[in-house]
Amino acid sequence: MTSIISTKNIVKSYSNGIRALDNVSMKVNKKEVLVIMGPSGSGKSTLIRTFNGLETFDSGQIDILGVRLDSQPDERKVRAIRKRVGMVFQQFNLFPHLSILDNITLAPIKVQNTSRVEAEEHALDLLSQMGIIKQAKKYPSQLSGGEQQRVAIARALALNPELMLFDEPTSALDPERVNEVLDAIRSLAQKGMTMVVVTHEVSFAKEVGDRVIFMDSGKVVETSTPDVFFTNAQHQRSRKFLNQIEK
Ligand code: ADP
Repeated sequence: MTSIISTKNIVKSYSNGIRALDNVSMKVNKKEVLVIMGPSGSGKSTLIRTFNGLETFDSGQIDILGVRLDSQPDERKVRAIRKRVGMVFQQFNLFPHLSILDNITLAPIKVQNTSRVEAEEHALDLLSQMGIIKQAKKYPSQLSGGEQQRVAIARALALNPELMLFDEPTSALDPERVNEVLDAIRSLAQKGMTMVVVTHEVSFAKEVGDRVIFMDSGKVVETSTPDVFFTNAQHQRSRKFLNQIEK
């Protein structure tokens, strides 16, 4: 199996002395949906952010899409990776003064020198896939949170990424808006996109995840298939977490 991401013994401490990652070794295979779960503060966000150079780390190494990152920050490598990796955050971070269409076409036009006509055609196709083509001419403040998050996904997809990273993509949404965003992510999985998804959404993890990584205190405690993780978790710590979130 081709691995798209492979980390070896990553250690990361913040300047306040908190060890956010403690010898993390893990893999993401091509076309796989890897779900990362764990209590708040366990290092999930720090880990996913190291993949595209949003966080540096103290030791260990990351091989991602054939590029090796180590503890020495290398802007050139990070720029190369960010062109190939899309990321969606809890907050949508759309440009408020740009229309939905312009939010999506900005990077392809500026970064990839795509023509406006081609970029708009692609953007409309992505908005249609996300079920929000009617919103193309509107501004972010006119859309619901769930719609804005789907625009953020379309914006990431506009650069034709080989890998998508999602850091708690539904945590800032009203409960009734969660499913429309999860459905959009599910449809990407069905198309074979390789994805890493940090989420607390159990039914999504069960249905869409190929593997689940459970983290606690900066460590990977367990790596299992969703079947095993949710019915017969191997570690006491995982079981305690599952009991808490399922209550
Ligand atoms: P999670 O995503 O699982 O909630 P994080 O990766 O955000 O966990 O955080 C892991 C640990 O690192 C926590 O103890 C958190 O308080 C700490 N941490 C995260 N970001 C910073 C930062 N910028 N500066 C200092 N400590 C941080």
